[in-house]
Parts: sequence; structure tokens; C-alpha cells
Amino acid sequence: MAQKTVDEPARQTPVIHETDVLVVGSGPGGLAAALAAAREGVSVTLLERFGCFGGNITVVGVEGFAWYRHEKTVESGGIGWEFEERAKAMGAAVPESQSLSYELDSEGFKLVADALVEEAGIHPMLHRQFVAPIMDGDAIAGVVVESKAGREAILARRVIDATGDADVAHRAGAPTHKTPVEEMQAASVMFHLAGVDKRAFMAGVAADPQTYKDWSTGEWEVETDGKEDAMFSPFLRKPFAQAIDEGHIPAHLNTIGGTWGAVHDSGEMTYMNLVHLAGCDGTDPDSLTRFEIEGRRQAMQAIDALRRYTPGCEGVRLRNFGMSIGIRDTRKIDAVYNMTEADVRHEGRFDDTIGIYPEFIDGYGVLILPTTGRYMQIPYRAMLPKKVENLLVAGRAIGGDRIAHAATRNMACCAVAGQGAGVAAALSVKAGCALADVDIGRVQAAIEAQGARIH
Ligand SMILES: Cc1cc2nc3c(=O)[nH]c(=O)nc-3n(C[C@H](O)[C@H](O)[C@H](O)COP(=O)(O)OP(=O)(O)OC[C@H]3O[C@@H](n4cnc5c(N)ncnc54)[C@H](O)[C@@H]3O)c2cc1C
Repeated sequence: MAQKTVDEPARQTPVIHETDVLVVGSGPGGLAAALAAAREGVSVTLLERFGCFGGNITVVGVEGFAWYRHEKTVESGGIGWEFEERAKAMGAAVPESQSLSYELDSEGFKLVADALVEEAGIHPMLHRQFVAPIMDGDAIAGVVVESKAGREAILARRVIDATGDADVAHRAGAPTHKTPVEEMQAASVMFHLAGVDKRAFMAGVAADPQTYKDWSTGEWEVETDGKEDAMFSPFLRKPFAQAIDEGHIPAHLNTIGGTWGAVHDSGEMTYMNLVHLAGCDGTDPDSLTRFEIEGRRQAMQAIDALRRYTPGCEGVRLRNFGMSIGIRDTRKIDAVYNMTEADVRHEGRFDDTIGIYPEFIDGYGVLILPTTGRYMQIPYRAMLPKKVENLLVAGRAIGGDRIAHAATRNMACCAVAGQGAGVAAALSVKAGCALADVDIGRVQAAIEAQGARIH
């Protein structure tokens, strides 16, 4: 049966704001893009549907920004590095358990992002959701937003889509592809705990340390290089297997398991990445509704098992869920260049590199850690959509195949792409040229002048 529809009357939408560069979405990709563009001296607006900047860091509670970092890791040192340094300086980061990095505090990072946005002179617009592009032929000229104030228009000379889901590119008519739902990476409802006896918990970890090899037990098989297998991982599976054996968790929930984040002296344990929800489509609100509720249910089952079977967790209680379910995998653009598995596995090099990222691949059943000094370059063309002018895409929706995304989806890589996109957008405004024609040598020089490594 044909879908029932209603006709909406035509209307005039007020233009409430104009800007040189509009960044839609403020995760690691969008926040880095906005900062990089503002530092090139153009006017920048950062639009976000929720009440804080930071994307998955602050909204979902993903705190492991650079857990891949080891002694020989080679990386960009750009705005992503600044996120960590600033978080440390503001008391919003603690040493991370498996690496030489710092774990961001998802609440404290809200303040870090506020400070960075304010200092850069970025025009902040929270609580407004992008709903439609404003098109001038094939070029995007701004966006329509919806909020408590109704429907409003924002005009922009360049737009950077950092929604994670390529919402802007998709609606503007750029070709995108969505991973089939049965192949999507699982979604997660993240949570934080209170009431952990830190000393007893850490003694339990020391008595039975888990490794990355342990990821390949139960439900998953994870391919590594072999060098990862004996390395420590803050991994929890045994309490949930025991809870299944003893009838406290149903057998089909053998997907409960994963990593813990930081254990604080105050008894909080944060970034509990234990609930994995296959079949959730992050672009379908009905699917999101179902899996938010199911994810919360599974999180409580996980907490019950931790109480029963994990030393130091006998008295834990839920402190909070992430503000939203965490989505790993939806649409990507079909970019002018789509990165490939070979690029991320074999140190891809590009004339139009806008940044480097260590050889860190995590997703689709592959885990490779950058313990060797190997790294890849990220090409500008992977952020350039086809068919729509004045638009770049930064963050996890850039062009690439599955294994390429297992690298580029990571937050620090999203920040690398974001910094490149922000600089390129700003320079194209200043030069009055199309994004496809921007002088890449100048973009590269400006990124290096901002302190990031591109080669
Ligand atoms: C549970 C989970 C655990 C993860 N663990 C890690 C990890 O340990 N380390 C790691 O590096 N990566 C991890 N990732 C991956 C990483 O978090 C994401 O790939 C990354 O955050 C993507 O960055 P982004 O800037 O593209 O998008 P996001 O961080 O998703 O930010 C997008 C922003 O855009 C906003 N937005 C979206 N649509 C609209 C709209 N229509 N209008 C206005 N605003 C909009 C959103 O509210 C959000 O703030 C994890 C992901 C999940 C879900």
C-alpha cells in the first residue's frame, strides 16, 4: 500500500544568521573543523542538535580518545592532541589504562569544548537540528534548522557536514552509501558506575589480567597482527559468561562484554562499553527508540553480573547512561577519492594529504595497534563529496571502504580530517574558489602552520 502523505503549505523561513563557514555537528570531526577554520580568520558557526559540543565524547560517553598510543606511535599532533592537552589542563582527563594516552572525562570535556569554541571566536548554536539543505543549483548555500524556535534558515558560503551520518550530504543530493543494517557495526548504550571499590577492582584485574587475545572468545573473532595478542586490555567477559551459566543473563545475550574505561578514586568507573546491539540503524528513529530501551535493559543486566562476579563491584550502582545511544556505522559519502583497505593496512600516501594517522584499525573484526611507527596519510579528496559544491564532509562519514572506516572512524582520525576540512573551507572562502579547486599546497602549509603533521 502506498505511504499516506500530507501536503505541507509553502512558507517563508526567516534567515537568522549568516556565516563564512558553517559546521554541522560538533563531535571530534566538527569541533576540530570549526576550530581550524576559525584560526584561518573567517567567520565560523558551529551548529549542534544537543546542548553540548563534543559529539560521542560528551553525548555518548566515549572517553578513549587515543587508547591506541604506544611508545613508537607516530601521529599528527594537531587539534586532536590539543583536545587531550586541554582536557588534562582543565582536570578533565586521567591516565588511560592500556596506553600512553589520557582518557577524557565525558562531562568535563563539555567545558573544554565550550572554552575552545569561545576562545576561537566561533559562533555557537546549540539546540538546533539540521533538517534540510538550502540549495542554489548544485551548490549548498546554507541549511534549514528546527528547534524550539520553529524552522529557521542559516546562510553559509561553505558547509562542513560533521553529523557523523552524512545527513547534510545525503539530503543535498551527494551520493552516499549506508552499510546494510545486518552488517553495521553494533550500536552501544554506554554507562558509568558509582560505588566501585577501586583497590579491590584493580587487585582483581592484576590477578587475572585480560589481553586483546581475549576479545576472540564468546561471540566475536578478532583478527590481529599477532603482536597485539599478549598485550593488556581492560576487557571484561568472564562475569557475563558466569551470569549466563548461572541463569542470571539469558544465553542469547552472549554479546554482553567489552571494555571498562577509567576507575576513579571517588569510586566511579566510567566509559563502560559492554552492551553491543546488532541491527540498530542509526538513521531510523524507530530503530533508535527500540535499541535505546533494549540497551538500557542490557546495561542493567551487565551491572547485576558485575555486582555478583567482579571483585570490587559488589556495591556498584548506575551513575548515568550516555545522553544518547552510541552509533558507530551508518552512511558514508561516495567521495572524489574513497580510502581503501590497502591504504590503511599499507601506509597510504597521497599528494593531497591533509594529515597523518597511526596504523590503528579497530572494527569489522580487525584490531591492529600502532606499536611500530607505521602510519597512513588522509587525503583531502576523501572529504570532498561528488555532485554538491561548497560542501565538505568531516568525521566518520568520509569516503572509504569498510576496513578503511575501521581506521578513519576513530575519534583522533575524525579530528585530523576535521582540521583539514576546516582549513580547506576557510582558504576556499578567502580565495573565492570552489572547494574542488582549492590550492592544496596552501592548505597543507596552513595545516602545518597550525602545528599538525601532514607527512
Ligand atoms: C559506543 C562507542 C564506542 C566507541 N569507542 C571509541 C574509542 O574508544 N575510541 C575512538 O577513537 N572511537 C570510538 N568510537 C568511534 C567514535 O566515537 C566515532 O566514530 C566518532 O566520535 C565520530 O566522530 P564525528 O565527529 O564524525 O561524529 P560524532 O562524534 O557522532 O558527532 C556528531 C555530532 O553531530 C551532531 N548531529 C548529528 N546530526 C545532526 C543534525 N541533523 N543537526 C545538528 N547536529 C547533528 C550530533 O549530535 C553529534 O554531536 C566509539 C563509538 C561508539 C558509538
